[in-house]
Amino acid sequence: MVKTRFAPSPTGYLHIGGARTALFSWAFARKQGGKFVLRIEDTDLERSTQQSVQAILDGMAWLGLDYDEGPYYQMQRLNRYQEVAEHLLAQGLAYRCYASKEELDVLREQQRQAGLKPRYDGRWRDSKQTPPAGVQPVVRLKTPLEGIVVFDDLVKGKISVANHELDDLVLLRSDDTPTYNFGVVLDDLDMGITHVIRGDDHVNNTPRQINILKALGASIPQYAHVPMILGADGERLSKRHGAVSVMHYRDQGYLPEALINYLARLGWSHGDEEIFSREQLVEWFDLAAINRSPAKFNPEKLTWLNQHYLKVADDARLAELVTPFLQERGYGQPAAGNLPGIAGLLKDRVSTIEELADASAYFFKTIEPAAALREQYFTAGIRPALEDLTGRLTGVEWKREAIHHEIKQTVASHSLKFPNLAMPLRVMVTGEVQTPAIDAVLELLGKEETLLRLRDRLNDFPG
Ligand code: GLU
Repeated sequence: MVKTRFAPSPTGYLHIGGARTALFSWAFARKQGGKFVLRIEDTDLERSTQQSVQAILDGMAWLGLDYDEGPYYQMQRLNRYQEVAEHLLAQGLAYRCYASKEELDVLREQQRQAGLKPRYDGRWRDSKQTPPAGVQPVVRLKTPLEGIVVFDDLVKGKISVANHELDDLVLLRSDDTPTYNFGVVLDDLDMGITHVIRGDDHVNNTPRQINILKALGASIPQYAHVPMILGADGERLSKRHGAVSVMHYRDQGYLPEALINYLARLGWSHGDEEIFSREQLVEWFDLAAINRSPAKFNPEKLTWLNQHYLKVADDARLAELVTPFLQERGYGQPAAGNLPGIAGLLKDRVSTIEELADASAYFFKTIEPAAALREQYFTAGIRPALEDLTGRLTGVEWKREAIHHEIKQTVASHSLKFPNLAMPLRVMVTGEVQTPAIDAVLELLGKEETLLRLRDRLNDFPG
């Protein structure tokens, strides 16, 4: 059975790149009817925080990336790493190295001066020396001195590295915590991971990991290294390019399905499909269709997708999502209480929930029209028609059709064109010139509030 995993280090929030890796691993497992595991790689004690763990869990939950097992924590598996290191030591496949940091610094410096690649020289590999007192050793793997490591990367194709290029990597640090490579290998092995899907910043680690697996006599999983994500300037995506945290997008009012759709297209494609659901992604997902070259992050495209998903989103859901944004702006309940109606009316004019909150401002408070608008629309000539309309609306049943009818009647009886009346009307109640159909706005604003605003504004008219 296919089993994949996402193995973030909790040293920050869940960022765009991590989320995309998680998505690919998740989609592959779902497509194959397999399992998806979440594992927290928290052995870097200095940089790991509980807060980051939470941020990762929150990000996964928000994106709907559900896992079948985990979260596992490496720090809860220390005994296991130590046990396997002992086993490798006993078998002569690993050894204790007592070289001090200073000694290794000197070695590295000598190599650099000789124009060589810095690498550990194996000085304790077959050493019969008595270990120096008081030095806590590390455990190193006896990397084969000859031969090559070859693997077929499911994205990059065949990759081979000569063993003499690799040095004897550390498995256990002197404080008995595993190094990244050792921890990952044992976790992937113990958890039965069949496909390791991860960022290609780890591709150089893979031959080392394969050597550890071989020493353990274990079978080798399949690897798929996903090219990185670049900013518009061609540099690796980072904070400099703006928001890279997944939760930042939630906080700006993006919908998770928009981000999922966007991330899926970031380095993967299915024909020309741009807009597709999570279910379609699972149905289509294929590692072979992952691009070999890096993907470029394009915030405009994400916004475009978000716009689409807002348009098709359920009004009641949008009402719920926009509520915290409204609260932030100090808005209470809309006058007529129909928040889903307001969301539904405005949703195809905005590209984020945040914009939806801003666009709905006039439903919560009166907006003073700009001086130029007053001058243009609040004229003595149109005043009688607006007074007439106010009177008519007073008696009407508060339904969009009825409101529309009264506006048309007023237009006709004053020999106007529709916009002659609708524009000042719009500015009077919303303070703006660009709103959805004015009858729909008035219906949602409610009768009482509409009449209040109209009567109030009529006082601002000359003549
Ligand atoms: N913890 C590693 C990282 O966050 C992931 C390692 C892996 O997927 O093998 O980069």
